[in-house]
Amino acid sequence: MAGKKVLIVYAHQEPKSFNGSLLKIAVEELTKQGCSVTVSDLYAMQFEPRATRNDIVGHLHNSEAFNYGVEIWEAYKRGGLSKDLVEEQKKVQEADLLIFQFPLFWFNMPAILKGWMDRVLVQGFAYDLSKACDCGLLQDKLSLFSFTTGGSKEKYAIRGDIRYLLWPMQHGIMHFCGVKVLEPHICYAPEHASEEKRKEMLTAWTQRLKTLWKEKPIDCSPEWYFK
Ligand code: FAD
Ligand code: ZN
Repeated sequence: MAGKKVLIVYAHQEPKSFNGSLLKIAVEELTKQGCSVTVSDLYAMQFEPRATRNDIVGHLHNSEAFNYGVEIWEAYKRGGLSKDLVEEQKKVQEADLLIFQFPLFWFNMPAILKGWMDRVLVQGFAYDLSKACDCGLLQDKLSLFSFTTGGSKEKYAIRGDIRYLLWPMQHGIMHFCGVKVLEPHICYAPEHASEEKRKEMLTAWTQRLKTLWKEKPIDCSPEWYFK
């Protein structure tokens, strides 16, 4: 939809990868729709995933014993966050839609992307004491987790519903911050698929993006995940 702002947070080392192709498609298709698209290419940026003292510029609130949660919140309030965090928060603030594009690592997102969540979604910016979930501070936004797996769809059906894995990401992080969640987009086992099947998966992503703005968020409640 023309005028919408999209931030794609992308975590893959290789532009020629399947994830790289999914990213390219999203940038092209959304740009074609008239959206303004920003990409945070975390490996290319050498994004720091560790939550440390370096995230705080200037004095500490309590220099006797370091408490990251307290310090980062205090630093946010006084405008004392490191430059990389300020830049990422500005991108989030401006976005109508956040797309996370990544390969599944150990039933989860890659550490570099988890580090982005840990460091960017700071208290006071993304949520606050009485402002979480439906009252979270990023309420006007949508999110979409788009990822690839090594395992096939059939294997996931045997191992357990892949929705369980989405509980911490979609509910624990996005919903907690007030961000609405669109259906995830999962490309199963691109490494083991035929060239034809891979092309089909890429076309399906393009097709989905064409009508994305008409989609309704999921009901991000335990029933969706553990029914
Ligand atoms: P790639 O290997 O980059 O791509 C697959 C193929 O698609 C390649 O041959 C590539 O050339 C080709 N391709 C790229 N672009 C195109 C195009 N435009 N057209 C046609 N072909 C194209 N998997 C799980 O299921 N569960 C786990 O818990 C899990 N944990 C992992 C932990 C670690 C540390 C690692 C390294 C992997 C893990 N995996 C797991 C596997 C991982 O999720 C997959 O390897 C990954 O999702 C594959 O995506 P990719 O983009 O890297 O694929
Ligand atoms: Zn939820």
